[in-house]
Amino acid sequence: MADLVKRIALVGGTHGNELTGVYLVKKFQQYPDLLKRNSLEVLTLLASPRAVAENCRYIDRDLNRCFVNDELLDLTLAGYEERRAKEIIGQLLPPGRPGIDMIIDLHSTTANMGLSILPSSKHPFNLRLSAYLGTLDSSVRVCLGESSGPDSPMLRSLVPLGCTIEVGPVAQGVLSAELFEKTEMLVQAILDYVDAYNRGAALPTPDSLILYQAIGSLDYPRDAAGELQGAIHPQLQFQDYEPLVPGAPVFRTFAGESIGYLGNSTVFPVFINEAAYYEKNIAMVLTEKQQIKVVDGE
Ligand SMILES: [Zn+2]
Repeated sequence: MADLVKRIALVGGTHGNELTGVYLVKKFQQYPDLLKRNSLEVLTLLASPRAVAENCRYIDRDLNRCFVNDELLDLTLAGYEERRAKEIIGQLLPPGRPGIDMIIDLHSTTANMGLSILPSSKHPFNLRLSAYLGTLDSSVRVCLGESSGPDSPMLRSLVPLGCTIEVGPVAQGVLSAELFEKTEMLVQAILDYVDAYNRGAALPTPDSLILYQAIGSLDYPRDAAGELQGAIHPQLQFQDYEPLVPGAPVFRTFAGESIGYLGNSTVFPVFINEAAYYEKNIAMVLTEKQQIKVVDGE
């Protein structure tokens, strides 16, 4: 990749009750020198100020599902997040002016996902950066969503370079000093990595990477009306990124019965019992664990 990464958007508050990103962005806005690097510029953004003010995930609908190409052209969609999505694009990718090259979107999760890096795409630059971040802390995991790349409805998908950082477990509306500081460490490491890359002195990266590739999701047991009939099995709670073998317990019904995993191969669940996903009918996201080569160059 010959192009330099000159402008980075650092985003928090895409979900207003994920306080790690909200307060990290506010801290960087208060102390902008912390983001200074010679070869690049960082634009900080609180994506959903109203949701931040109201300490909720969203006002009308999930902002991180609003970056759908057709919908962005539809001016009749005028909910708060639908309008914010259009404003954010205007700010990050202004017509006729240089836009951002990379997005770092800061989130937190109630699941036990440690420091999870979700690259925006399988672009070699993202994979090398992710492999590098994996060397910095033992709780770093790299997880690729089912809908990554330009067709994803997520904010990070506006440009191919960058990632979402998901840290957890932490409750919605709560700050954890440890996760706050580790997220800050990752942001600083990303800026250092990009700065070194821009100067032609790329930091050394491992030549392979463990990637958790999302392949689907499981919903909770429900009745015909959609009412919950059980919860995550206690043996599975907080076991994100651990192997789940066929037949192993996944849910326990309110009647006390265990429901086993029906798949026929081992998977690695993430976002187990994520609070925000009950309404999305997602009890966990299933991934496959892959070891992939991190290629040099394009
Ligand atoms: Zn989030």
